[in-house]
Amino acid sequence: MKYISTRGQSPAQTFEQVLLTGLAPDGGLYVPDTLPQFSQAQIAAWAGLDYPALAHQVISPFVDGAIDSATLRTLIDKSYAGFAHKAVAPLRQLGHNEWVLELYCGPTLAFKDFALQLLGNLLDHVLTRNNQKVVILGATSGDTGSAALEGCRHCENVDIFILHPHQRVSEVQRRQMTTVPGGNVHNIAVRGNFDDCQRIVKSAFGDQSFLPPGRQLVAVNSINWARIMAQIVYYFYAALALGGPHRPVSFSVPTGNFGDIYAGYLAMRMGLPVKQLIIATNSNDILHRFMNRNDYSQSPLQHTLAPSMDIMVSSNFERYLFDLFGRDGQALARFMTDPAEAASGVDPALWQQARQIFASARVSDEETCAVIREVYEQSQFLVDPHTAIGIKAARDCNADAAVPMITLATAHPVKFADAVQRAGLDSPELPLHMRDLFEREERYAVLDNALGAVTDFVQRHL
Ligand SMILES: *Cc1c(COP(=O)(O)O)cnc(C)c1O
Repeated sequence: MKYISTRGQSPAQTFEQVLLTGLAPDGGLYVPDTLPQFSQAQIAAWAGLDYPALAHQVISPFVDGAIDSATLRTLIDKSYAGFAHKAVAPLRQLGHNEWVLELYCGPTLAFKDFALQLLGNLLDHVLTRNNQKVVILGATSGDTGSAALEGCRHCENVDIFILHPHQRVSEVQRRQMTTVPGGNVHNIAVRGNFDDCQRIVKSAFGDQSFLPPGRQLVAVNSINWARIMAQIVYYFYAALALGGPHRPVSFSVPTGNFGDIYAGYLAMRMGLPVKQLIIATNSNDILHRFMNRNDYSQSPLQHTLAPSMDIMVSSNFERYLFDLFGRDGQALARFMTDPAEAASGVDPALWQQARQIFASARVSDEETCAVIREVYEQSQFLVDPHTAIGIKAARDCNADAAVPMITLATAHPVKFADAVQRAGLDSPELPLHMRDLFEREERYAVLDNALGAVTDFVQRHL
């Protein structure tokens, strides 16, 4: 399998090469040059597989030529063995034909563990084989950081540095990062906001001369293809559990950077019958505005009760637009870099095509709280604010009551106790493995909002 850039100006790469990098040199994102296709009969034959066995089937074509089949199976087994539920991705029924897929049974209680546990094991395998060392540098608004640290702390050939905005992540989120042990694990609180952290990371990727010879930076945000790949699996898993592929199912996905729902789009393109894919956004609604009125202009960042979706531009949307633009990298590059083009939207015929695949809804903080309360009263089930946004969008956009509607539950409510309390409910207890989180020792540096402060710190701690 080869990977190409969405901007069409960089050479094709192998799986191993895209695993060990970030953006393509032309500023694009890597996507497979052709998608694997599965027939209905093939998918139907997977009905008896447990989560790791299914993951092995779905992921194999993407790593073909880079990792042999038996090794891949071992890495997958290791990635999901630590999940706190035997099903790995259990389904829970909320109402008639209404389901949530609980994706928060991993070590850091958010769906990001699905991708980052596997990413850590893939990196460890490839780097050991190459006798190569790399540096992970990433920015987080909360959930990515802890999942990346948990996924990569065992990798001997990785030094990992995670930037978070000082005093702007929840206490549970901060402690989940800063209490991770290990000499190769480094947390940096930047005196700035999440965008400042991202800007620093982006600049560091652009000029890596501060690293010792032979070292390179690896991305752990969802521009890394391996993350998307891992997330395709649970769409198949949920559909198979509810009668797929013999009948279609629908998904509602709480969306920020568009990584998670893009994986659902790929599952559909690979042959899974999907009726609706619903983009659920908070007040940061660029994707909803695009779907609703072909407007892709940026508006200022809003801080909401669902902070993991507080994002102005969704980087993975570029991967979908690449397909929508008929894989014309140059046309896409113009659209992505010219604000005037973005504001006037895409060609109306293309826009209609996008609307046939995606529905969308925007959910306010007030509505989010109301749904948390309502779902608790209706089904005695406590959901986090991101999941609540997904459920609301599912209920608003549902086009066919006969098709199972599955909302992706992206985080455990204990991570967002503020929102739960604002909804008038008691915040849940920390799960067993985290009961002593508030007693564990924290380690982190507070640095100025400057590239030089961060690169100096990395140099000193390698
Ligand atoms: C990261 C995250 C999202 C958004 O996922 P994207 O892939 O960025 O669209 C939603 N909910 C939670 C809890 C998250 O951590």
